[in-house]
Amino acid sequence: MKEAAVIGMPISHSRSPAIFGFLAKTLNVADLNYHAIPVESSALSEFLAKVRKQPDWIGMNVTIPHKEAIRRELDSVSLEASAVGAVNVVEVRGGKFLGHNTDVFGVIRALEEHRCAVHGQSVWLWGAGGAARAVAYALGKMGASQVVIANRTLARAEKIADEIGSLFPATQFQAVAMDGEIPALASSLKLVVNCTPVGMHGFSGDSDLFGALSELPFRSDAFAFDLIYDPAVTPFLSLARSLGLKTIGGLDMLIYQALATWEIWFSSKLAGDEAARLKESLAAYLGELIKIQIKDPRPIFLTGFMGVGKSTIGSALAKELGWGFIDTDKIVTKTAGISIPEIFSERGEAGFRSLEAAAVEAACAMPRTVVALGGGAVLDPVSLKKIQSAGDLVFLSAGLESLQGRLAKSGLSRPLLAGLDAHAQKERIQSLLAVRAPIYESARHRIETDGLAPDEVARRIVASVRKERA
Ligand code: NAP
Repeated sequence: MKEAAVIGMPISHSRSPAIFGFLAKTLNVADLNYHAIPVESSALSEFLAKVRKQPDWIGMNVTIPHKEAIRRELDSVSLEASAVGAVNVVEVRGGKFLGHNTDVFGVIRALEEHRCAVHGQSVWLWGAGGAARAVAYALGKMGASQVVIANRTLARAEKIADEIGSLFPATQFQAVAMDGEIPALASSLKLVVNCTPVGMHGFSGDSDLFGALSELPFRSDAFAFDLIYDPAVTPFLSLARSLGLKTIGGLDMLIYQALATWEIWFSSKLAGDEAARLKESLAAYLGELIKIQIKDPRPIFLTGFMGVGKSTIGSALAKELGWGFIDTDKIVTKTAGISIPEIFSERGEAGFRSLEAAAVEAACAMPRTVVALGGGAVLDPVSLKKIQSAGDLVFLSAGLESLQGRLAKSGLSRPLLAGLDAHAQKERIQSLLAVRAPIYESARHRIETDGLAPDEVARRIVASVRKERA
């Protein structure tokens, strides 16, 4: 398998697992394992050292707060990423880490797609963070004549104006305080860009910030571009529309930077028409996802008897939501370095349960993740309590007959059923169910699975959890 991930803290807002899952499926890349991994600043070096030792890694998407700090951990940094001062993509090749910035490409392609030609034009930016640096660089590269950077912290805007300005002498970069006087402009504005998180879903900033929009002079063919993609129409874009400006949301940039990332990781250029088709289908997919998503990022845990389909349904659910997926049994085997039957025979059921409890604890801290729990994980009252306070527990229910039918195929590999004939297996299932039923029934959601395809079960889980979290 090829390994890749988005790393950051928090990463609950990240659409990268949904995007790269979609690209892998659409481009028939079956061996890509893409994760969302929360990494604290203090743990970045240690995390990267681990990745270096694992030959299957092909790359990482890098998000807040590592985009700048990660540069010193890399073996080389592209000219663009170095000029922007931020790395949003790491390519792992032959044990070396190479840093890139695909946000610049994302900005340029989004503007090109909307036929917003900024060559020789004046542009106004709000914000002076990492994304604003990429936008400023892109505007310099596209030959804008004037770029005004308005920021709450004037010094940050001045730094961008100096540093990016020195790379593009034909563009006049100017820093202003966000609430300061509007400076003289070389010409009416062709473009205004929001590079702040104000207006983003879940961000409590003040959208009065953009009041000055109505005081700025615009060309008749001017655009407003918001880097935010959730919601699709932000307060900034609504106001811009009311002033007659054409609008561009952040989804296009997000998708184009992801396509550029894919090309870097897989060393293959997507053909023009293939890229256009992919872009369109990915935009439709993400647009739907933003609509159906469960906004509350707490994990969803699936429990139920062995053989009920927790892994298959969990994968389908994660795909439906664009979330990550983990299976606590897999974490256990990875930690122990041996299979579950081997753990049972070497350390007994108690040894297995203690590894399982540690896996559950780790899963509780993973936002936007669907967690398939081992059949007995909820038997430990401490784990059960942690699960119930960390997210939603969903009980996947199935009748005895269908469980028996499914386990007839895989029962021999299950330590609790191994060595039993069909009759003894049935008795064992019944006695285990009798003990577990009250615990399973304590789950916040109960979903019947008999006769339903995994996708349908996943949709029913989404409906039930959304209702609960509305
Ligand atoms: P960042 O480095 O944290 O910078 C945030 C900027 O916004 C800073 O200039 C900050 O001002 C300003 N700001 C924050 N809160 C504010 C408030 N309440 N009032 C006024 N100004 C405020 O963040 P970033 O990485 O540049 O990201 C900015 C936005 O772009 C985010 O919404 C992010 O999701 C989006 N983005 C989208 C894409 C895409 O592909 N569509 C890619 C990258 C980023 P100070 O300097 O004064 O703190």
